[in-house]
Amino acid sequence: MEKPKKRCCICSSEIKPDAHGWAGGYNAYPVGKGSACHECNHWLVVPARLAQLRMDDIDREDKA
Ligand SMILES: [Zn+2]
Repeated sequence: MEKPKKRCCICSSEIKPDAHGWAGGYNAYPVGKGSACHECNHWLVVPARLAQLRMDDIDREDKA
């Protein structure tokens, strides 16, 4: 039985299994809702998360 293929919620391409055989994709938050492919995770989701972390740091510095 073939599992239904997941699609990236950012670029709509098929999410392929990674080196560990995991084909569930990556959490697309905060860029999108759902799963992201490896490329979108690496180029869009991770930088967006880092930017958010930096924003949080700035917030904390302002309040301190
Ligand atoms: Zn993608």
